[in-house]
Amino acid sequence: MKNIAIIGAGITGITTAYQLLERGYNVSVFDKNRYAAMETSFANGGQLSACNAEVWNSWSTIGKGIQWMLKKDAPLLFSPKMNFHKARWLISFMSNIPNHKKNTILTAKMAIESRDEFKRILNKENIKLDLEEKGILHLCDNEISLIHGRKVNKWLNEAGLSRKEVSIDEMISIEPSLNLKNFVGGFYTDSDMSGDIHKFTMLLAQACMNKGVTFYYETEVKKINHDKKQPIISFTQSDNKHKQNYDAIVICAGVNSKFLANDLGDNVNIYPVKGYSITLLLEDRDSVDHAPYVSLLDDKAKIVSSRLGKNRFRVAGTAEFNGYNKDIRADRINPLIKWCNELFPKVSTEHAIPWAGLRPMTPSMVPRVGSGKLPGIYYNTGHGHLGWTLSAFTSQQISDHILRQDNFEH
Ligand SMILES: Cc1cc2nc3c(=O)[nH]c(=O)nc-3n(C[C@H](O)[C@H](O)[C@H](O)COP(=O)(O)OP(=O)(O)OC[C@H]3O[C@@H](n4cnc5c(N)ncnc54)[C@H](O)[C@@H]3O)c2cc1C
Repeated sequence: MKNIAIIGAGITGITTAYQLLERGYNVSVFDKNRYAAMETSFANGGQLSACNAEVWNSWSTIGKGIQWMLKKDAPLLFSPKMNFHKARWLISFMSNIPNHKKNTILTAKMAIESRDEFKRILNKENIKLDLEEKGILHLCDNEISLIHGRKVNKWLNEAGLSRKEVSIDEMISIEPSLNLKNFVGGFYTDSDMSGDIHKFTMLLAQACMNKGVTFYYETEVKKINHDKKQPIISFTQSDNKHKQNYDAIVICAGVNSKFLANDLGDNVNIYPVKGYSITLLLEDRDSVDHAPYVSLLDDKAKIVSSRLGKNRFRVAGTAEFNGYNKDIRADRINPLIKWCNELFPKVSTEHAIPWAGLRPMTPSMVPRVGSGKLPGIYYNTGHGHLGWTLSAFTSQQISDHILRQDNFEH
């Protein structure tokens, strides 16, 4: 096996291209956009967060989804409009509730593995991405949230992660700029990090290009056929149709992976879970001085924040189950601005750049990493709320898997 095509130039596709290149393959990357990282890997929450490994499969999530169905600014918004895909995904999500603990531990282990690999790539390629290594602080606003956090702590400890409970005084010493009047305590993971996913993906794509990866940008893969031995990609470029054979393909197409997998007889059940972010441009002295450097996770609001260098502050969150549209709704952006005004009153929200993206979510919340049914078909997709955190590891996993199969065949 020599020539491998990757569909998708988001964080999963570019890290996979890098790993396969390191293993000696000729790699081509296809993306319908003009540049890498223009879809979900564009402006996410920025957290490299093993501490946020808890999967959402619980009755409490279902209860909140029902309770908040008509509340437009709720952290979790479940549109009651139903179709076959959504219904099937939901049933499978509920059937994974018994795996809540197991999948949380599994995800935390993957996230821990991912850190070392991420650091290795950063150092090898000398990538600068506004990385902050100041940990992640969870904010809890009531005793129930603390009790839940203590339970999850035990699972994270089992996975090998140290996340310690902290008092309000300790939280203030960790991040002095915080206004904590509405909180009762929290948890701190000093080994977690944050950084700009878009910068990283763009720069790694550039490094891949310099080392010989071929990029087909502005090229949409329309269909993948298979001649029983090899995949054949049909794609359009500047309205011209082309076909090309590859020894193997890796599907890293985010929320579109499901449709490409359908062509190949594989069931890749991914639902688009929409989220929003704002990026604040810190232009005045007060904003620069009072925006936090420690990355935050507000348990109740389901909002995360990351400082991206001296002059940018990213606030992201909310989960919306409402199909594939990427409209930016004011009633979903406003809670992010309000959160910022309340917690950081000295930080100006005058210049907030809004964004919406679709998390490619599997019902178990564990990414799909492995082979398809047909020879030469592979997946590294479905990373949901943790694609930035997990990709360094899953790209390694899929590339080692391909190499092992390749060596076995020869
Ligand atoms: C609001 C929000 C906040 C988040 N915060 C965090 C966070 O703090 N930490 C974290 O770890 N994760 C976070 N995530 C999740 C993370 O951003 C995603 O898991 C990750 O970006 C998904 O990457 P991907 O490569 O799978 O998909 P994408 O980045 O969407 O890449 C898929 C690519 O495939 C291309 N493509 C698809 N179909 C085709 C086709 N047919 N032909 C050609 N190209 C195609 C697309 O153009 C796209 O570029 C957040 C997500 C959101 C929405």
